Amino acid sequence: IVSFHDVHKSFGDVKVLKGIDLDIRPAEKVAIIGPSGSGKTTIIRMLMTLEEPTSGDIIVNGTNLWKMEKKGKLVRANEKHLRAVRGDIGMVFQHFNLFPHMTILENCMTAPLHVKKEGKEAVKQRSLEMLERVGLSDKVYQYPSQLSGGQKQRVAMARALVMRPKIMLFDEVTSALDPELVAEVLQVIRDIAKNDDMAMILVTHEMDFALDIADKVLFLDEGVIAEQGTAREVIEHSNNERLQEFLHRFR
Ligand code: ATP
Repeated sequence: IVSFHDVHKSFGDVKVLKGIDLDIRPAEKVAIIGPSGSGKTTIIRMLMTLEEPTSGDIIVNGTNLWKMEKKGKLVRANEKHLRAVRGDIGMVFQHFNLFPHMTILENCMTAPLHVKKEGKEAVKQRSLEMLERVGLSDKVYQYPSQLSGGQKQRVAMARALVMRPKIMLFDEVTSALDPELVAEVLQVIRDIAKNDDMAMILVTHEMDFALDIADKVLFLDEGVIAEQGTAREVIEHSNNERLQEFLHRFR
């Protein structure tokens, strides 16, 4: 459902990604690990069409996001296709980005109502269902400021799920949380991973969590995928020195 072919990305003179190849199947759960600055967030942002590659192909659900013209100029896929791609992708960030002036329920309803133009009653039912899944049925009429960080992050997940994405992206969703709130958020993601058949891409520093839910782990280092395999192969049995060093810091 997602393919990168020889994707390069530079910011000015700085080469951040130096030839990324990856294939993610529908329903596959993939964890991306790697040191700070290795380009993990850049991969996520390129998938969301927020960042363009310097070269290479990025294909999401059959749509090639960019086309390289003969003179080496990149051309975006047309807006209709890009909208469809964005509609297939749900995203949860490190910072929750909830709308402060809307209730929890309204936060979940706003995109399906206004972007997808769905009917209000159906959207409300689905939002309540998703909020129940993340354990927040008793908070639906409260405002974000009344919730803890972990609860806000669970709202952000419910809000993404209401859009029924084919691909969910999680970018270090627990790293802004107080330590005691991390477990509840990871538990919700575990539940989603075990019960939903969407593809999931997770940037995380939680190695036990990756071991538990990821079908595949990619170790990104200095702009390349330096190691990949099953979670066990990468996290427990790799001989890659840079990876060992990295794991030492996070386990
Ligand atoms: P972290 O774990 O710290 O979030 P990361 O692996 O997600 O790191 P990225 O955020 O993808 O890393 O950034 C990779 C590199 O690209 C960094 O050196 C960063 O400074 C640089 N970079 C990212 N975005 C930009 C930008 N818009 N302009 C210039 N440099 C950028």
